[in-house]
Amino acid sequence: MTPTSRNTPSNDPEKPQPKVNLRELPSVETTIAQLSKVSSLPQPIIADAVRSRVKVARESAQQSGACAPRAEIISAIEADLRHTELSRLQPVINATGVLIHTNLGRSPLGKRTTDFLASLAGQYTNLELDLTTGKRGKRGGYIETALATLCNADAATVTNNCAAAVMLILRHLVTTERNEVIISRGELVEIGGGFRVPEILECSGATLREVGTTNKTRASDYENAVTDRTALILRVHRSNFFLGGFTDDPDDEELTAIAHKHKIPLVCDLGSGSMMATDKLAPIEHEPMPAEVLAGGADLVCFSGDKLLGGPQTGVIAGRADLIAGIKKDPFFRAMRCDKLILATLQETVTAYLESTTKETTPDVPVTAMLAMRLDELKQRADALMAQIQTPLADAGITATLIDSTARTGGGTMPKSSMPSVAIALDGSAASLSPDQIISRLREAASPTIAYIESDQVEINLRTIFPFQEEALVRTILSLV
Ligand SMILES: *Cc1c(COP(=O)(O)O)cnc(C)c1O
Repeated sequence: MTPTSRNTPSNDPEKPQPKVNLRELPSVETTIAQLSKVSSLPQPIIADAVRSRVKVARESAQQSGACAPRAEIISAIEADLRHTELSRLQPVINATGVLIHTNLGRSPLGKRTTDFLASLAGQYTNLELDLTTGKRGKRGGYIETALATLCNADAATVTNNCAAAVMLILRHLVTTERNEVIISRGELVEIGGGFRVPEILECSGATLREVGTTNKTRASDYENAVTDRTALILRVHRSNFFLGGFTDDPDDEELTAIAHKHKIPLVCDLGSGSMMATDKLAPIEHEPMPAEVLAGGADLVCFSGDKLLGGPQTGVIAGRADLIAGIKKDPFFRAMRCDKLILATLQETVTAYLESTTKETTPDVPVTAMLAMRLDELKQRADALMAQIQTPLADAGITATLIDSTARTGGGTMPKSSMPSVAIALDGSAASLSPDQIISRLREAASPTIAYIESDQVEINLRTIFPFQEEALVRTILSLV
């Protein structure tokens, strides 16, 4: 929304300043009043936008001797306001087929969670009050117990995100005497969003002890790197890429044996904490589950709350109780703690999993439901949508066809995992509508719909669209005609 100055004013005192009639510029007060009637933005934001555009126009007029046309200035302000309006956080329809889409806020929450939040958010809570004693209580007491149960761990705790979790683990385990972290060269990765493992290691004060090669690291490589300066062995799950071909990695048991022989902890950054066997939900690979990795001997695991777990942005640390207690004593833990709304959200998500184990149903967690959604069910929904849009679109020269497509977990999880899906493909060439134009019109609609282009067609992928969004989706697609 920052208007750019057309020219820098001339400071040359010799040069006579041209005369310009500044009355031709739009009146600030009238423009604010007019735009306030049509924009949904708060009036002070509108006023700022008007003032800054008019200021730039005035300066440029004084300098060049001519005012830009009034209509041009007004439409620039309108474009600024539109941009600001669209940048407001709001629901969107995810038609990308990418289940955990970082740009779209990763995991959506289940209904039990959103219902609970709606009732909790407007009231006081027992966040740090023990209701049995009336004394000060532990923040996150229940969620820590519930997470430990879910991960089959001695203890667990929660922080802002997984990057913070890794950081806190390293801060606790790395000391001046023991400051080396052994990690495979195949795991020195950038996870996305600027999370680079080597940089996180560095800013925690650790010294990297890289072992193996990019494609092959053997148990003996780890064993040979252990010295009396070793603080821990770190494993980072390759969540956003995969190594294929001539590769080798020791399994968790081998690494556990080495770590424990030398009495050093083994820490696994899993990235995504899947609580369900992903290969049983969908025809995709098995994502390591926190409980499995801990049972395999890891001392600590950490993972994000908003990837396959399907909860809010958080980082969970689970494992040995003494290590968790130590991590929680770090002053940085206080700086990275979660707010009550986040804790409540995670509480309901985790409780949904725990309850589903006894009821043997899938938990009310949208990402797991999307993974498990059967193809024939998606096809049925797509048929019903097509019946509503095909004819009106055809009349306007836009062809809609139902096609086989694929969906992905995304969000830096399971790079190889794609699962079958169906998509509505839109072709507007007969109406002189390019795929880019269609994409941006869908995106800027009243219900912003995020589609993608594949083979010169716009695809609307059904797997990531909620049934309750279908009415809005139909309205959005029909707004193209
Ligand atoms: C996603 C990911 C992270 C970062 O998690 P945030 O919750 O986004 O901070 C760290 N490590 C791995 C392996 C990841 O996949």
